[in-house]
Amino acid sequence: MPNIDTMTARQIAAGVADGAFSAVEITRSALDAIAAREPEVQAFLQVTPELALEAAERVDAARASGEELPPLAGVPFAVKDNMNLKGTRTTCASRMLETYESPYTATCVSRMLAAGCIPVGKANMDEFAFGSSTDSSAFHPTNNPWDVARVPGGSSGGSAAAVAAGMVPLALGSDTGGSIRQPASFCGVVGLKPTYGTVSRYGVVAFGSSLDQVGPFGRTVEDVALAMDALVAGGHDQYDSTSQDVAPQFAAAARAGIEEKRVGIIPAFMEAEGLTAEVRRAVEEAARALEAAGAELVDVDLPHLDAAIAAYYVIGPAEAFSNLARFDGVRYGYQEPGCTTLAAQSSLSRAHGFGAEAKRRQMLGAYLLSSGIYDKYYYAAQKARTLITEDYARAYEQVDVILMPAAPRTAFKHGEISDPTQMYLSDMYTISINIAGNGGMTVPLGVGEESGLPVAAQLVAPAFKDERLIAFGSALERAVAATPGAWAAGVADAEHDGRLGAPCAPAFAGKGGELA
Ligand code: GLN
Repeated sequence: MPNIDTMTARQIAAGVADGAFSAVEITRSALDAIAAREPEVQAFLQVTPELALEAAERVDAARASGEELPPLAGVPFAVKDNMNLKGTRTTCASRMLETYESPYTATCVSRMLAAGCIPVGKANMDEFAFGSSTDSSAFHPTNNPWDVARVPGGSSGGSAAAVAAGMVPLALGSDTGGSIRQPASFCGVVGLKPTYGTVSRYGVVAFGSSLDQVGPFGRTVEDVALAMDALVAGGHDQYDSTSQDVAPQFAAAARAGIEEKRVGIIPAFMEAEGLTAEVRRAVEEAARALEAAGAELVDVDLPHLDAAIAAYYVIGPAEAFSNLARFDGVRYGYQEPGCTTLAAQSSLSRAHGFGAEAKRRQMLGAYLLSSGIYDKYYYAAQKARTLITEDYARAYEQVDVILMPAAPRTAFKHGEISDPTQMYLSDMYTISINIAGNGGMTVPLGVGEESGLPVAAQLVAPAFKDERLIAFGSALERAVAATPGAWAAGVADAEHDGRLGAPCAPAFAGKGGELA
């Protein structure tokens, strides 16, 4: 019998459309998998069986009445908890929004629903998306399905872990500096951050408004492409003025060849301090695999990349400070009881509603935007941003995509990194892409020979050419599947039915969630 953790989104949609099983049956399989695995993984802040079964029944009724089903009808998915979904709380994993009921549904979520997807729950995250571990969630940490002593990465760690543990084939995340791509790398799944403006952020709680983008996680590049097609269907969203009227054909790009295309390598990135030998070797091997598939490797130089992390930790906190000002206990958020003045109420609500990292970012942002300081840092960061964006534009005159690591190392243990600046380095390979605004995608490369944990590469494409990520990602995925031993024991050993794409974490494969 089919089982949620061995099926891709495409296979599920096909099975439902053909009547091989019903949407309710596959939804129950997902809910069973969640019940069986959540005690160990803790990917969710809220599981939504009623919403899920209602949506599944609608799909089954539509099929029974002979209606044409939307492309992802019956496919269970998870929603990061900074996205509104009517009928759920949207907490951003913060005490500040612990009781906040979504007043409406975010456009990205409603487009997945319009494509027929089934919402099974709200996924854990770092508080307000500040972080790279999901340990800063105010409610509980999430465990990496490959080794539950380790973090899943962050901030979209719950979304990545839910996919890696085989609970759902698709999940939505948001990425301001790496929050889709770094957890995808730690959990061994595919994660795509599209070009800024591709997916509407209406209904997504803002962190850094000039950086935030929404994107999908999946276990195959094709599934991620199908989710992207759903997310851009309808084009521009009138409720998000930054959303562009673009509708690339993502799924079709999975079949495009990469012969005679050029892949850029940034030598400085491959030698960078902090990059572990096993990740480096895997990415080098990925480069050779793309070459074997017909692409040409070209070294490119992006001279201002060194400034990216510093620029991000000015622009990000400055924008976060202004976005989070609304959580004052009056307009939004936790309200401290018993205060006699408005000033006390606002400051105590904020003191008790926000966790340590959220406070650190806002204090940094307040300082950076203060007079005298603003000119020195904020202005300098904006200049660096322009230079980095121009660096990428110049590189794309020579190459079609760039290949680099997604994260410098594999998943670390809970509590292993306590110094915030060390944590910030987790995103050394992802941040410059948000700064420049273009798209990037993490492609799993099996497990590293030293750590036994997932390792990954990141593909980066010019702005609004994200379909190239799908084409090159598919080529890479085929290479990994064709020679699993060369990459990692894990890919060959894990329960894997021969389909392309990353297996779910071995400990969870086939455990619960079988379709009865
Ligand atoms: N880890 C980065 C940060 O803490 C990125 C977070 C994100 O992309 N939301 O800012």
